[in-house]
Amino acid sequence: MDFAPIVETFEQMEQTSSRLALTEYLVALLRKTPPDIIDKVTYLIQGKLYPDYEGIELGVAERMVIRAIASSSGKDQLQIEKLYQKTGDLGDAAGEAMKSKSQSTLFSEPMTVERVYSTFDRVARTTGPGSQETKLRLISSLLNDATAAEGRYIIKFVMGQLRLGIADYTVLDALAVAFTGDKANRQVLENAYNVSSDLGTVARLLATKGLDAVKSIKITLFKPIRPMLAERIRTAEEALERMEGKAAVEYKLDGERVQLHKGKQNVELFSRRLEKITSHYPDVAEAIKSIKSEVILEGEVVAINAETGDYLPFQELMHRRRKYGVEEAMENYPVVMNFFDVLYVDGKSKTELTYMERRKLLKKIIDAVKDDNKVRLIEQTIATKPEEIDRFMAAAIEDGCEGVMIKQLSSTYRAGAREYAWVKLKREYRSDLADTLDLVVVGALHGRGRRTGKYGALLLAAYDQKTDMFQSVTKVGTGFTDVHLEQFYNELEKHIINQRHARVQTGMDMDVWFEPNMVIEVIASEITLSPSHAAALNALRPGYGLALRFPKFTGKIRDDKKPEDATATEEIVEMYRRQLKVAGPSYAAEAEG
Ligand code: ATP
Repeated sequence: MDFAPIVETFEQMEQTSSRLALTEYLVALLRKTPPDIIDKVTYLIQGKLYPDYEGIELGVAERMVIRAIASSSGKDQLQIEKLYQKTGDLGDAAGEAMKSKSQSTLFSEPMTVERVYSTFDRVARTTGPGSQETKLRLISSLLNDATAAEGRYIIKFVMGQLRLGIADYTVLDALAVAFTGDKANRQVLENAYNVSSDLGTVARLLATKGLDAVKSIKITLFKPIRPMLAERIRTAEEALERMEGKAAVEYKLDGERVQLHKGKQNVELFSRRLEKITSHYPDVAEAIKSIKSEVILEGEVVAINAETGDYLPFQELMHRRRKYGVEEAMENYPVVMNFFDVLYVDGKSKTELTYMERRKLLKKIIDAVKDDNKVRLIEQTIATKPEEIDRFMAAAIEDGCEGVMIKQLSSTYRAGAREYAWVKLKREYRSDLADTLDLVVVGALHGRGRRTGKYGALLLAAYDQKTDMFQSVTKVGTGFTDVHLEQFYNELEKHIINQRHARVQTGMDMDVWFEPNMVIEVIASEITLSPSHAAALNALRPGYGLALRFPKFTGKIRDDKKPEDATATEEIVEMYRRQLKVAGPSYAAEAEG
């Protein structure tokens, strides 16, 4: 397949600020794509080569890319650097530089998707000494035969700056429409995606073998499963009501969620966003090797104080996220893995078992682990009365937890779902809302006074699953330390775009726009109806969305969450309703107008 139609689609997508249009362009492209390379095209349009969990990156140094552009456009490196400074994007600089290049058609190889993909693949797989030179040669070979428009996207891709903003959900919609003619079939595709986390494979199976083949996708070792999530509630009574009077209550530890896959020899750890994090916790991986079976387990890894054994807050785990000095970090920042679920044992999925059955199985597995310093079964009790939950909660908080998770005894493991089979009950925050929110940074205002040269406030959005859009819900300017201000400025700079992103919806006018990427945690005093914010627009009153009052950054950058994992607009509606209930009818009347 020629690379040109992909480039044309990218150009169209870049121009649009409508998500509907994004989907339509995608459907048209998928229909044109030969079925046997549909997986590759699916990855390419999302700016990747493989599913995220593979953790393989192109790893090309910027100076090498500048050299490649210079040599194939016949300009010198200084000229390219100037263009880069002017455009702020190396892809755009390449496109600009290559406009004046004379196209040699005589010896050139045709520019096909297969060629582009396999060259990228070789770039990614070239490692070790001298690899940068090899990568440079490979990229130059593509650029030499590319048009300016093709070159522009090739470089954007190589630099990880292809900002089309096509989320998994949009691809699922487009696949359903393109190959089954019916958007409703997206559910089947989504189920397969939830257990495999691999959109490319789902797409290829659908295109080559049809919907039934997609239905048969099963849990496999070393392919992470999308995690089951919890709804929030305010009281123990409410939990028991929802769970038919009897439920399991577990510690809700403040650490990092880990999905651990153990094969015959290998162990891999995946983060909440399903990226490989084995190298952060080699001690946990080692400890687990004494399990005889092949298993997939889930747990929360938490930093502990080596002297007292006390749990430490989430932030302490940052010390483990490093490439070098891991031995030292293991020594200085010990952790313990607290398992709460088992999803697979020796070739068989266990997600269809009930909570009680899985817990029993999990206990058997963990009891057999030799190194019980590193590995535990999460604290748990079965409760039938609210007082029992409250007492367990008090103990959990005393032990350094955020609160408790309450789980329905009869429930199966529902990959990728946020439902009331699991609920979280957290310690009261000083904020009046029952919980913090994790929101996506989509825009900013320039700072003034002490904040000149930094951002003064950030525009935050919640994720609306139905429309696959990021809807603004507040502007936050408090809770930032100088370190945060610096960090926001440097990190967000990489995601600046010229206009509001096609998947961002807001009535606010900002100085700077970002592609949705960074997720941060905020608390707020309450939720109000708003004429300028778009979260849950029209859900409660026509023309109004929901907004946070007195928001404050908690200090947590949630880099374990993708933008689509941010707090959902539906959750905010739910929090708003609950707030009305608690505040009473007079408040409700006032708030609803
Ligand atoms: P939060 O922002 O409240 O941590 P979240 O949005 O990251 O939540 P939720 O599914 O809403 O994810 O809350 C559950 C999270 O709590 C899990 O992702 C996991 O990291 C953590 N956790 C701690 N203890 C448990 C437990 N016993 N069972 C399940 N999850 C637990």
